[in-house]
Amino acid sequence: MSGGFECGDGWYHIIDALCCALYAPYSLAQQSYEGRLKAEGKAEYVGGRVVTAEDVEKARLAMVAAGKAVPVATQVKEKFGTLRFYLRNASEEQFHYVHMAEVMSSRVCEICGAPGTRRDTGWMRTLCDLHEAEQLARAQ
Ligand SMILES: [Zn+2]
Repeated sequence: MSGGFECGDGWYHIIDALCCALYAPYSLAQQSYEGRLKAEGKAEYVGGRVVTAEDVEKARLAMVAAGKAVPVATQVKEKFGTLRFYLRNASEEQFHYVHMAEVMSSRVCEICGAPGTRRDTGWMRTLCDLHEAEQLARAQ
């Protein structure tokens, strides 16, 4: 990541779930390749069919193709109280996942991960009651 990572720990699970969704096609293709590699030459593969070297190679190529479709996160930060996750090489579907993560971040305290709302404490942040009070006390 070139632009860095600038947001609170409270959004960890949102970012983790987003990355999981973004990498799912690659993870599945990788599992499929490893499964075929393990089953190569054995008749115990699904359906009792013998997995050939050709099947393994086909799965490997699918994994490589899925890897090329994995987007690159260039920057993750907080802006106007919500998460911003900048991607390069992303599909329209992947940008929808990013939008969902941004919407979720407007409902989760950036500091602790508890339910929160966007609040103005001098600058816009998404915070729980406790952390809003703490930020306001610090500002005085
Ligand atoms: Zn909090």
